[in-house]
Amino acid sequence: MTKKYLDEYGEATLARLNKEGIFPSPYNFAAFNRPSNSEYIIHESTLREGEQTPGVVFSIEDKKRIAEKLDEAGIQQIEAGFPVVSEKQRKGVKALVKMNLNAEIICFSRAKQMDIDAVAETGADGIVVSFSISQYHRKYKFHGMSKEKYLNELVHWVSYAKNYGLFVVFGAEDSTRESDLNFLKKAFKTAEEAGADRARVVDTLGCVRPSGMTYLVREIRNVIDIPIEVHCHNDMGLALANSLAAVEAGATTISASVNGIGERSGIASTEEVITALNVLFGISQFSMSKLTELSKLVENITGVNMAVNKPIIGENACTHGSGIHQHGVFMNPVTYESFHPKLIGRRRRVYIDELCGTHGVLYIAERELGMNISKDTAQKVLSRIKTSYSHGARRSAYTPSELKRLIIEVKGAEVSGTNNS
Ligand code: ZN
Repeated sequence: MTKKYLDEYGEATLARLNKEGIFPSPYNFAAFNRPSNSEYIIHESTLREGEQTPGVVFSIEDKKRIAEKLDEAGIQQIEAGFPVVSEKQRKGVKALVKMNLNAEIICFSRAKQMDIDAVAETGADGIVVSFSISQYHRKYKFHGMSKEKYLNELVHWVSYAKNYGLFVVFGAEDSTRESDLNFLKKAFKTAEEAGADRARVVDTLGCVRPSGMTYLVREIRNVIDIPIEVHCHNDMGLALANSLAAVEAGATTISASVNGIGERSGIASTEEVITALNVLFGISQFSMSKLTELSKLVENITGVNMAVNKPIIGENACTHGSGIHQHGVFMNPVTYESFHPKLIGRRRRVYIDELCGTHGVLYIAERELGMNISKDTAQKVLSRIKTSYSHGARRSAYTPSELKRLIIEVKGAEVSGTNNS
């Protein structure tokens, strides 16, 4: 089969994925830009952005447990806290520094001396110097700060942080609403010249769309050589799409949090970003099988429960409910799964209710209950199931153990039916 729209690299990437049991749309790889950087970095912000979720306060022990799991998943940078805020924040960061993880420990700060000093004192590896850039923030938060003054301050605080020997990320808060593109580009260039190691494009209000993000990141990439990071909020449900749009435009670091928790509707979620990089781009440098336990750990610690239909880690993300889908999966899972659930540390589930078909019953009987039943028996079981919804008041799905009881009952009736005849 010739896929004329794929170049050699796109075709090879798709072939490799297929070999690994991953079957995404081949059109992802049409006019596919070979990644310019062999390493994509997740700048993981559960412990900083995630803690901005109303009601979420991590203990130092919580932070250590989460950091350990992030490290196991192969995440390279952990944004561990905001040290200037409190003694507890500083202690939390110091505790993580002491763990000597593979991941680098990065802290959040404003463009202020007390903030930067507090980060340096923790022994962290790096710092995000967050300095709001949009006209709204400069006018209302910084009392009408001029562009010239902004650039002067930027040089000062980036060099100040750099003098501590820290890895410096210049975070241009509310980047996507600064309407003077030349000023925005000049700011990133200025930060680079002042010693910043990375430029963070921030969609603080989640109000850009993917094509806007692609355009912006391309423009910025044209003027700087340091890597670009994106930090996308999810107010319109576009955090993942915008992050991937930035990757397509050349960004190589994505800021994300487990389960997408954070201020308001949160940010791009770590488990979705990592899975999308692998399945949709062929970038597979993380331990994906750890993602589900990572998500569960954060769910348990924070008490922020995920919706059942949440991508990747939601209760139903690897579950097949309709008879049509169950039939397909029974014949070959590739029909209704673009990747095997075990890739993300999960198991496939088949849901038995009035929408299911005989293949669903056969699937559970054979694969979950270890029972060998005939198609005829499965049909009888199914007919009992459908009756329980049509004539009874049943509202819930059948659990595997209920199904087992039903199969035993039907088989018993078959045997006694044979005896009677
Ligand atoms: Zn944020």
